Amino acid sequence: MQIIVIPLSFEFKTTKVQWAKAHAHIKGWWKRPDGTVDGENLVAEVSNADTVKAIQFPLERLPDKQWEQCVAKLSDDGTLERICDADVEQACSAFEPQLLVRSDRTYDIRYAAPTKPSQPADAWEMREEFLRLKLDCEKAIAFLNKWGSWDFREYALLSEMVDLQQAALEGLTSPPELWFSKDYSIPPALYRRPQKPYFTILTDKCEIAIRMTVTSDLLRGAEFKRCARRDCGMPFEVTSKHSRDYCLPYCSHLESVRRKRKTTKEGA
Ligand SMILES: [Zn+2]
Repeated sequence: MQIIVIPLSFEFKTTKVQWAKAHAHIKGWWKRPDGTVDGENLVAEVSNADTVKAIQFPLERLPDKQWEQCVAKLSDDGTLERICDADVEQACSAFEPQLLVRSDRTYDIRYAAPTKPSQPADAWEMREEFLRLKLDCEKAIAFLNKWGSWDFREYALLSEMVDLQQAALEGLTSPPELWFSKDYSIPPALYRRPQKPYFTILTDKCEIAIRMTVTSDLLRGAEFKRCARRDCGMPFEVTSKHSRDYCLPYCSHLESVRRKRKTTKEGA
């Protein structure tokens, strides 16, 4: 085996996108263009303001109870049996996915590179903000309204954002093997350019950019520690010989105030 090194440039850009929370209901199975059932995906009907549209919803994103009811069962003769659309809808009637939708037209969203006017941005700064989020729909919307696109779809699932956040937090602070055992670590498609370094990763998708920053940090052997403030836990890079325990002076200050208050209380 030979290891070859391919230099790459990495560019993250932001585009202006407005995001909103949407209500969605599962309606049945997603159908392929030829009309056959795609057993991995469901149809979710999303209502947002005055429009209703159908989007693809991954079956694996159902909560355990609904997933159990919808997943195909093996019948006695070994064939896969799926429940019909009406039964899927019935089984999932109480489930309302936490979903964010983008307001713009997204017909060419499948390209990793921006397809709208974009601004250069710092992917690491974006990641830092993402990792600090106590993710709920409102915080996710505020984050995306600032940074733009999430992934290749016209919607974002809160549960998927939470999973990536968790994986990045763990990945940065564990042996690299953990991160590289997951699909998250795989770099996206490269673009070719006429000048050096000839290959580039250019994207406006936060999901791709976050994954790429973790992959690149771990490849260059960066070492991360988690902030010692128990309600923070933010990973920060160990860059000097002086060991520090907190990600920001704020966290260190808060913990010292906490310790003082505790001693004063105990003293009183
Ligand atoms: Zn901290």
